[in-house]
Amino acid sequence: MRAIPPGSTIGVLGSGQLGRMMAIAARRMGYRVHTYSPAEETPTGQVADLEIAADYEDLEAIRLFAKGVDVVTFEFENVCTEAAAAAAEIVPVRPSGAALHITQQRAREKGFLADRGLPAAACAAVATVDELAVALGQIGVPAIVKTAVFGYDGKGQHRIDSIEDADRVWSLIGHQEAIVERVVDFSHELSVVAARGLDGAFVHFGAIENTHQNHILDLSIAPARVPADVADEAVRLARKVMEELDYVGVLCVEFFLTRDGRLLVNEIAPRPHNSGHFTFDACITSQFEQQVRAVCGLPLGSPAQMRPAAMVNLLGDLWADGEPDWSGALAIPEVKLHLYGKTAPRPRRKMGHLTALGETVEEAIEKALAARDLLV
Ligand code: AMP
Repeated sequence: MRAIPPGSTIGVLGSGQLGRMMAIAARRMGYRVHTYSPAEETPTGQVADLEIAADYEDLEAIRLFAKGVDVVTFEFENVCTEAAAAAAEIVPVRPSGAALHITQQRAREKGFLADRGLPAAACAAVATVDELAVALGQIGVPAIVKTAVFGYDGKGQHRIDSIEDADRVWSLIGHQEAIVERVVDFSHELSVVAARGLDGAFVHFGAIENTHQNHILDLSIAPARVPADVADEAVRLARKVMEELDYVGVLCVEFFLTRDGRLLVNEIAPRPHNSGHFTFDACITSQFEQQVRAVCGLPLGSPAQMRPAAMVNLLGDLWADGEPDWSGALAIPEVKLHLYGKTAPRPRRKMGHLTALGETVEEAIEKALAARDLLV
């Protein structure tokens, strides 16, 4: 299959920070970028050649958008599969709508993992409060109920500590299809960000260690501080996920490492991932450039990491008393600032991140946390 060469136009469905950073990588290589989402003046739109504001359900607008580009990808997995299919009538869509379809709905994703023998937490899909009560009886408490669609950063998730809580939680999630999952007693949360080319080539950034605050990613550490055999197994599982999906592009698999040393897949994100942001500053080829190369059918780049790294997210909460003071953080050598161009700093909203490099991961973590503390 012929490559889509630099100078061509990449169409991105979605317009957030992931699309923005991919657009920066694409433009550096001489590609043009068009972005499509319902919003205007978006993080991706600010750095794209063209920003189209229309609904994902407007299939005629999607087709028109596809006519103006050479390949379509997405940076937001909740684009409806009809939109991916409409674009695919006109240009290649990578990763495929089929991969999107599986990974955008938690029950389907869990079914895919179970069918392929990939390890995950005990769980069940439920569509009514009675099914929820039955499932809780089977898998036990404590458990977490997660809405099947549109859940991210802990949105649509509620913990249940006793079966009597089922009615209350079912109301909280708004009586919608969900999965219920046993709470995992983990020692670490890990992720693997990897890319797969059109020719099946596979590269990865190793195991990344993640900590969350209020269900939102807070700190990523690369490489993860886990035994080499655990990191290797995480990469092997991520590769299997990509091969089973016949995936083209960048994908992230999030894992729990249980206290007794087992890896369980938590979630699959069919796109570059927040835990891979450190690659922009620490690796020869960032996750965003890998995405550009993969979707354009070019050889993947070296994922080699040049220095240990840590990344901290900057949430809107940091703006509570006005604009953060950037100068203190930026005075620390090897700290890099990334802001996403969002004008409304709402609490819990991802506004940017800091990446710090160091001789060791401990040094990188210390710098990243110190830099963030200096902002307010
Ligand atoms: P998710 O949106 O599924 O990635 O969940 C966000 C975060 O909630 C995870 O990264 C964990 O920190 C926590 N979490 C989700 N599911 C579970 C679980 N089954 N057991 C323990 N913690 C969980």
